[in-house]
Amino acid sequence: MDRNHERLHRDERDLRSVGMAELQAIYADLGLTRAELDLLSVPRRSFTVSFPVKMSSGKTRMFTGHRVQYSDARGPAKGGIRFHPEMEEEHAAELAFLMALKCAVVNIPFGGAKGGVVVDPLQLTRDELELVTRGYIRAIADHIGPFKDIPAPDVYTDERTMAWILDEYERIKREHVPAVVTGKPPDLGGITARRYSTALGGAQVLEEAMKERGMEARGTRVAIQGFGNVGENVARILHHWGFTIVAVSDVNGAILDPRGLDIPALRQHKGRTGGVAGFPGASSITNEQLLTAECDVLIPAALSYQLDENNAGAVQAKIVLELANAPTTAGGDEILFKRDIPVIPDILANAGGVVVSYFEWSQNLDGDAWPEEKVLRKLKHTMIHAFNDVRGHCREIRCRMRTAAYQLAVKRILNAERLRGNL
Ligand code: GLU
Repeated sequence: MDRNHERLHRDERDLRSVGMAELQAIYADLGLTRAELDLLSVPRRSFTVSFPVKMSSGKTRMFTGHRVQYSDARGPAKGGIRFHPEMEEEHAAELAFLMALKCAVVNIPFGGAKGGVVVDPLQLTRDELELVTRGYIRAIADHIGPFKDIPAPDVYTDERTMAWILDEYERIKREHVPAVVTGKPPDLGGITARRYSTALGGAQVLEEAMKERGMEARGTRVAIQGFGNVGENVARILHHWGFTIVAVSDVNGAILDPRGLDIPALRQHKGRTGGVAGFPGASSITNEQLLTAECDVLIPAALSYQLDENNAGAVQAKIVLELANAPTTAGGDEILFKRDIPVIPDILANAGGVVVSYFEWSQNLDGDAWPEEKVLRKLKHTMIHAFNDVRGHCREIRCRMRTAAYQLAVKRILNAERLRGNL
């Protein structure tokens, strides 16, 4: 666990360096005015709360939580809540800004937010976790709402956490408000496909990028770093579509089989053993070997800062699909660009989650329950549309996809500010 925390912490720091490096360049390229820069540089609202929780021992412990609403120019602020020992306000602000860019690039009517509680959830009992969730929501209840700020799952929070959030919020308001939070269990107004929508959205944009290069599923070899919610689902989906998954990893190990891994059997193996290591017939490799494995598509779906100047030169993939947040450093990105390896950037590649959150919010506001077919059709439409927008902008200004995605998002946010009379 400590190792996970260390890595997660590193994730967030690196997010900053990558995101901010990209933004500096974009600000220069777009020739933003001082007022525009100022407007983008600070979150609109940022809350820090402290609240007491009576622990199972009978003793009261104080907890600290944050919520940052970076931008709400395009709509209510939107973004996850994470439970993490290193969940500092500064990290929340950076992640909230990325959420604003993500929502803008896929053109859904939300701003960006992020928040969480400074806690190691693995050290708490189920009941304590519930009390912490409820205490946090009581503390921020005045600042969230279906037209203000809509939380969702993030690191170490899930459907069950969202159910507690919903229930606590509704107790406070004394009415039903299902659209206050997304990523809920389907029986409380959630959407089943939300569970795998980040992976599916990523697979859909990958398919588009492959079409441009005349590549097809059959014969395309994929290496996936991470076998959690996103990694496992993308492996399942791509395997089903006829791709050959040659390598996967999780926090305890990486495996390779150049003939292709049997993903349904691997998922069963994970169910039995808790991880991918030791899967019969596959060879054990290092994390570094996974990133530079012989493959056509590389999918970092775990941690930040994985592709850097030390290993980007050895990547053998023809396309990189960033399903993790900020898995490529600025230095790594530069090398991949020079080597002509296209990177489908995180704010586009992993936006499928928040897109389905948007559908959930809309169906809740309408008192509706969308059929799965409608969710999947609209997710695909939104992702492909966003991909085409980014590709079109790329061609226009002849730049890498990351730059185009950031530029499009920044322009859309600034345009909303302008229309509101804020610029
Ligand atoms: N936490 C997810 C993300 O970072 C989803 C946010 C949402 O659905 O609001 O994209």
